[in-house]
Amino acid sequence: MRDLRVSVTDRCNLRCRYCMPAEGMEWLARSDLLTYVEIERIARVCVERFGFTGIRITGGEPTVRAHLPVLVEKLARLGTDLSLTTNGATLRLLADDLRAAGLRRINISLDSLRPETFLAVTRRDALPQVLDGIDAAIDAGLSPVKLNCVLIRGVNDGEIVDFATFGRERGVTVRFIEFMPLDADDGWSPRTVVPGAEVVAAIGAVYPLEPVEVRGPAPAERFRYLDGRGEIGVIASVTQSFCGSCDRVRLTAEGMFRNCLFTVKETDLRAVLRSGGSDDDLATAIVADVGTKWAGHSIGQVNFVRPDRSMSQIGG
Ligand code: SAM
Ligand code: SF4
Repeated sequence: MRDLRVSVTDRCNLRCRYCMPAEGMEWLARSDLLTYVEIERIARVCVERFGFTGIRITGGEPTVRAHLPVLVEKLARLGTDLSLTTNGATLRLLADDLRAAGLRRINISLDSLRPETFLAVTRRDALPQVLDGIDAAIDAGLSPVKLNCVLIRGVNDGEIVDFATFGRERGVTVRFIEFMPLDADDGWSPRTVVPGAEVVAAIGAVYPLEPVEVRGPAPAERFRYLDGRGEIGVIASVTQSFCGSCDRVRLTAEGMFRNCLFTVKETDLRAVLRSGGSDDDLATAIVADVGTKWAGHSIGQVNFVRPDRSMSQIGG
């Protein structure tokens, strides 16, 4: 148990099909969101009491929350490996401030290099802004810059090698993520998943690859190009689930602690905080929740229970 994913908002400036419905989302009220001081307090308990070594800020889209660098500065002071996952659309405006606040590395989501497919997936015509955001992250000195690409059969699986070429040319690592049943539109089925093994085979046929190392608790399996031009990652959460070695927990924007992306039970840490609870109370609530963590998510099996929240509400 060493990696904390903190969602700072359920809102977003895009509407990716695999994450949010086109419309009809009811946003959390501002007073429901954890404040940056509250987030910092929970994160500090995780670091000081339980030895967490990594914190990732996510959402919804974290960059739509005001004054994000203020939170980055607070969390950077905890001395863990701090990272941020963003859709990149507004990074040109923010990358320098995030870097100055103490962010060192970043993951940017990009699901297509083709404007029409980007629009179809995200329901927003923002490819130029995201590509510029990637450049802005590199210009600001964030390193590594990694790209997250969710592949969906029949939508963007024809771009696998194009993504590899893009990553090699820009000096960024592309991580291919299997589509998981956390889409608000309920469009997921096993047939929509592009297996990680297929990605490695497709890229390896053009740019020969070799495995980097045994993965440990990290979700991505890594492969390096034999010609030394960088590497790719494959997150095969569906076809090769890594639940057994998972050390991640999540905090939703309204302060719900989740011990698994797919859990159907949450612990309300905001209630502990706002009723005057101590750090001991927070720690006790966290231990109790983690004690109920199950062995695996069971996607594709008859006993799989789909969470009633979409990825944007949980925090990816
Ligand atoms: N808005 C930011 C972004 O898009 O990077 C951060 C939040 S987003 C929920 C975090 C990550 O979850 C993104 O890389 C996104 O592609 C991924 N994601 C969202 N829905 C998913 C799904 N159903 N299956 C797999 N990955 C998903
Ligand atoms: Fe927004 Fe990220 Fe979800 Fe896309 S994946 S809708 S950018 S939160």
